[in-house]
Parts: sequence; structure tokens; C-alpha cells
Amino acid sequence: MREILQKLAETHSLSVDEYERLISERTDESSRLLRELAVKVRRKIYGNKVYIRGLIEISNICKNDCYYCGIRRSNKNCERYRLKADEILACCDEGYRLGFRTFVLQGGEDSYFDDDTLGGIVRDIKASHSDCAVTLSMGERSRSSYEYLRACGADRYLLRHETANREHYERLHPSEMSYDKRMECLRVLRELGYQVGCGMMIGSPFQTVRHLAEDLKFLETFKPDMCGIGPFVPHAETVFRNYPAGTAELTCYLLSVIRLILPTVLLPATTALGTVDPVGREKGIMSGANVVMPNLSPVNVRKKYELYDNKICTGEESAQCRECLSERMKKIGYKIVVDRGDVIINGI
Ligand code: SAH
Repeated sequence: MREILQKLAETHSLSVDEYERLISERTDESSRLLRELAVKVRRKIYGNKVYIRGLIEISNICKNDCYYCGIRRSNKNCERYRLKADEILACCDEGYRLGFRTFVLQGGEDSYFDDDTLGGIVRDIKASHSDCAVTLSMGERSRSSYEYLRACGADRYLLRHETANREHYERLHPSEMSYDKRMECLRVLRELGYQVGCGMMIGSPFQTVRHLAEDLKFLETFKPDMCGIGPFVPHAETVFRNYPAGTAELTCYLLSVIRLILPTVLLPATTALGTVDPVGREKGIMSGANVVMPNLSPVNVRKKYELYDNKICTGEESAQCRECLSERMKKIGYKIVVDRGDVIINGI
């Protein structure tokens, strides 16, 4: 185990078999060692800085029916909403005052946000806040759409691959969704010059250690600029309502592994991690993560953007979320900074 860890820290690469062993044979001792190695690398590149991204959940209307997701189209008990352009811009203005320099627009695949509408919003945000980065997380779109949005000023795109194993992908999604399409979108986004983020849920139904090892190999070869991982959390109105949630322990372990595979990667301690463990985000940062994504959505829609049950921070004002996270980070010796927080190239 020690040798595998050393090899990973030095070469940033392992075989799928070795990744599998790294996960299945982990002990308290090896976890501690791994965490130390990951934090050392993270400190060398990013110091004790934590970047913040203001997350704006612009619509929970979705044409897709992903089996795990609370806003899937079959959920008839989900109260649907979409934000108007001026509401989104108001969230950005408030976020700017609170020190955010990246805005993440996330939503279901809602045809209302066609290229003109979404592109116009991106342009307006960039016009009023030219020192900010705009990240989109709006699902699968055509090449021409991604190209247009990039031309409107979008800097980054988050599209989790969800799982790098085709059979597993097909068990998490209805047949009209395709593993190849998902992967193709990621390649196109990269080609168009976006900073690209992918990622997977930890502990999703039917996931095996082998699948996770394949995810790690995919991350190693695709080399995303950002990587979002969080535990799967069941939602009562989905097919997977009775499946157990993923653990904070395994999620944090994998955050450390990913930090060693991709030393400069922008790695969030996610809201889902904070949902399965009250100090999950702190644990994530202490495992090698360097980003947190507080909610900037208007308070009245937060409860409606429920991807999974018991999502945290649905009652607080944006300023409270920002303040609370600053305190939490300070307590563990880290500091939230006012910065776009672009990926450091050639950081080591
Ligand atoms: N429609 C966009 C945004 C999806 S929501 C897209 O397709 O990219 C962002 C992420 O939340 C998803 O990619 C998924 O990994 C995660 N998610 C959805 N349901 C979840 C659940 N029940 N538990 C944990 N994470 C979930």
C-alpha cells in the first residue's frame, strides 16, 4: 500500500488494478498518509487559499429523467421554477458585493434557456462584472451551442461524467441518454477552450470499487481543470429512493487521491458532502479540496432545487452562507479569497 501511494504521489498515475487496490485495501493508517500527501501538494500550489464559486440554480425544469435526480421530469411533486434574466443578474450583483468573482449558472435541461436567452445572460453578466468568470452547468448541448456560449463569454463548463463505466452509466440513466454523448460533450467543451469540469457521485447505486477505479483512470487521462465529486444522496421521489447514501469517508479519501493524480485541479468540497456530514466540507478541504460553492440563489427557490433529500443551506440568505463558510474555513486554518480562482497551469 505504501509503495502504491508513493508511486501515485511521484508519477500521478496508476493502473486501474492499482487504483482498485488503493480503494479496497485502505486502512485508517493509509488514509492518514494519503491525506497528508494530498494536503502537502495542495498547500504547495494553492497555499491555504480556498476559492469560492457563487452557485445560482437558474431552473429546475428538466427534460431528462436521470434515475437518481430529484428534479427529473417524472417527479410530479416537484414545484417547478425558472429564474428570469434580471433575477439572475441581481444574484450576481449581490454575489459581487459579497466577494464572489465566479458565478456558476446551474440548472436542468430547460429549453427556455436557448442560445439567445442564455447567451444574453452570460453577456450581461460579463458586461457588468468583467473581472468575473462565468461557469455554466446546464447539461448536454450541441457543439454550436457550446461554441456560441463560449463566444458570449462563458469561461468554464461543468458536466459531470457521472460514471466512466458504460454499463453503470446505463443503469443510472434511461435509455434515451447516452454515455457516448456525455463523453463527446466533454471533448467538445475542451476543444472549444472552456476550462472543463467533470466528476462522479460516490456510492451511487450499483457502483463497484472497479467502477471508481475506472473513474480515476478517466480523470487521469482526460485531465479536467475541475472535478466535482460528492456522495450520492437518495431522493424520496426517485427510482433510487431506497438506496443508501455514499459516505463522507470514501468521498474524502477519493478527494485526496484526485489531488495526487491532478495536483493543480480545482476540487470542490461539495454541498452533498456537507449534507451527509455536518462538517463534511471542512473534512473535504482537509483532504485536499480547494473550492467551496455557496448558494447564491434567491432563498425562495432553494428548497425547490432539490437534487437529493435534506440538502443544506436552503434557508439562509447568501450573505449568511458566505459568512458561515468563511468562519468554517477560518476554524480549520484556511482562508476564503476574493479571486476568480482560475486553474494554475504548470503549478508544479
Ligand atoms: N443538468 C446539469 C446539472 C445537473 S445537477 C447537468 O446535467 O450537468 C449537478 C449534479 O448533481 C449532477 O451532475 C449529479 O452528479 C449531482 N446529483 C444529482 N442527483 C444527485 C443525488 N441524488 N445525489 C447526489 N448528487 C446528485
